[in-house]
Amino acid sequence: MLQDIGKGQGVYISTYGCQMNVNDTERMYALLEMVNYVPVESPEKAGLIIINSCSVREKPVHKVHSEVGRYRELKAANPRLKIGVGGCVAQQEKAKLLKDIPVLDFVFGTDAIDTLPQLVAEVAETHQRKVSARFENEKPYATETMIRNPGVSTFVNIMKGCDNFCTFCVVPFTRGRERSRQMKELVTDIRALVARGVKEVTLLGQNVNSYKSDCGADFGQLLRALAEETDIERIRYTTSHPKDFNQELVEISQKYRSKICDYIHLPAQSGNSEVLKRMNRGYTREEYLDKVHMIREAIPGVILSTDIIVGFPGETEEQFRDTLSLVREVGYDNIYPFAYSPRPFTKAAKFTDQVPEADKSRRLQELIDLQRGISFELAREFDGRELAILVERYKADENHLMGRSTQNKIVHFVPPVSAEPEQFIGRTVRVKILKAFPNVLRGELIV
Ligand code: SF4
Repeated sequence: MLQDIGKGQGVYISTYGCQMNVNDTERMYALLEMVNYVPVESPEKAGLIIINSCSVREKPVHKVHSEVGRYRELKAANPRLKIGVGGCVAQQEKAKLLKDIPVLDFVFGTDAIDTLPQLVAEVAETHQRKVSARFENEKPYATETMIRNPGVSTFVNIMKGCDNFCTFCVVPFTRGRERSRQMKELVTDIRALVARGVKEVTLLGQNVNSYKSDCGADFGQLLRALAEETDIERIRYTTSHPKDFNQELVEISQKYRSKICDYIHLPAQSGNSEVLKRMNRGYTREEYLDKVHMIREAIPGVILSTDIIVGFPGETEEQFRDTLSLVREVGYDNIYPFAYSPRPFTKAAKFTDQVPEADKSRRLQELIDLQRGISFELAREFDGRELAILVERYKADENHLMGRSTQNKIVHFVPPVSAEPEQFIGRTVRVKILKAFPNVLRGELIV
């Protein structure tokens, strides 16, 4: 019987990569709990181990091999133990993983999560090793949020896949074509999360600005519907593509500013138009800066962050300097810098003008050093300001409450002695900032 395939055994999932993978892991746990698996905190206690892999960073396949290798002894001691690999490496490598890793029982791709219990049941019943890694590009993406303990702030997938084919990126090959959830389902989903105590959602997608519901609604209209038709207090989203960030979206962000947060992650990737063209990003440096100005004019005080790749094939020293100047000109609160490394299937992996590793490392360090100074300067502008903080956690060992401002700044403050600290969790309170550090602001509660 499918409802009892777990028979109360433990399931342990090891997660790599982005928030999308973290959300997928949460979904796997929820689905496996429904068939009587019990989440456990260590692989030693599990009858089922899953590695939810990521192929964005370096040596992803190697990481899967080495992690599965660590479970060889567990399998020898317990032959009934099943080991599977999901996520982007599974999607990319498919049956090759089974061939290369004899101890592995099954491999499942990014579109096979919802059928994971059936796959595990088949493997257990037939004692055969299985692969399920087909893209379901024609099927609707109709997957309601499954989060066991959502807390104050949670993530909601609104779309998956990407059609942009940036020349450095493996995502279109590991997540498939773009598919969006229906707007009315998302409204229902978020109302249900609000009923469970959620105050803030972050809408997730590889390229949220490409969101398109079957009813015709685009991302801006989705934001409007969530702001108007649900009681969610705060809405964030990631990741935006600069080429699709339009005036309408800015106007909606401005109109519903009480709910839509003053923080936008807008990946530039490079500050040089020629490099951007070779990356197939669909915008020039000037067009990117125009979007930044449009956003800042409409939403004064909005905070921006970005992704930057240094050492993309053919990037000259001068072109790298353009990236540094873009970072200075925009004044990002935070950047996520990467040294380019080739990914399978991608066009840029075949470019012959790869940049030497030593140059990439040097450029990366220069960029990190530059941003450190900018982040610190910008953080200091918060000194003395009063911010509305949505409280997420109480850290008893340090006796401080932790929350975030609408600009996504993490703020710590001491709870008043007259009140139980936990009663603040989920509330939005006013905090005066006393001291700014690069990654955190310290403040005091205004009563
Ligand atoms: S838009 Fe983002 S997810 Fe899509 S190919 Fe480009 S970098 Fe990858």
